[in-house]
Amino acid sequence: MRTPLIAGNWKLNKTVAEAQQLVSDLLPGLESISGVEKLLCPPFTALMAVAELLKGKDIGLGGQNLYWEASGAYTGEISPTMLAEFCQYVIIGHSERRAYFGETDQTVNQKVGAALAHNLTPVVCVGETLEEKEAERAAEVVSRQVKDGLSGTKISSGDDLVVAYEPVWAIGTGRAATPDDAVVIIRNVIRPTLAGLFGEGVSQGVRVLYGGSVKPGNAADFFSLEDVDGALIGGASLNANDFVAIAQAAA
Ligand code: PEP
Repeated sequence: MRTPLIAGNWKLNKTVAEAQQLVSDLLPGLESISGVEKLLCPPFTALMAVAELLKGKDIGLGGQNLYWEASGAYTGEISPTMLAEFCQYVIIGHSERRAYFGETDQTVNQKVGAALAHNLTPVVCVGETLEEKEAERAAEVVSRQVKDGLSGTKISSGDDLVVAYEPVWAIGTGRAATPDDAVVIIRNVIRPTLAGLFGEGVSQGVRVLYGGSVKPGNAADFFSLEDVDGALIGGASLNANDFVAIAQAAA
């Protein structure tokens, strides 16, 4: 049995004071939900403040990115060592990073290796663009992203990794994939590719999330499917009531 994971990606939002306010709004609702793992991914500048508020709470903290070197002359970057001071998780290869910051399957692979070496669980994002979907290349693209992003990395247990299937055309657009479409990619592409890389046992333990316009109104449709182990949530994670309602739908 895989415990559902509900992760909030706050992206480029929230000052420290705003982050603290959002966490205090979230805590009563999130703490009352059991059987679901919850994860908040604020911007780097708010990690320390949020970590303080989450002390002793059963809610994880994650970064939205990292660089693979431990230290050195890499202006503007954040190392795995720095993240590991506060976080248990890190989002890697989000489509916005691939689209705007030149991330590739190769950089994803290096980042995953660095995260694992520092006991950070990577949440690796994969998903096809609208153009690729319309050209019926979704399966090929997602399979390549999983293979090239993860090959050679040291995943020895399903707990070491989370994959988020996020069709790019569904992110922030209000147009979610249908649960059936998501299942086709997760069941027929992502899990078999993971099995090819790490073996069937490990692949069955990896949590595969759906992401892309998840809201309180559609969350239960995704979570009722055994292939969907939770969600990575952007827009709706900035609203405490919505994020709690989505986490409740996963319980
Ligand atoms: C995301 O950014 O990972 C995401 C899924 O965004 P949204 O929920 O806003 O579509």
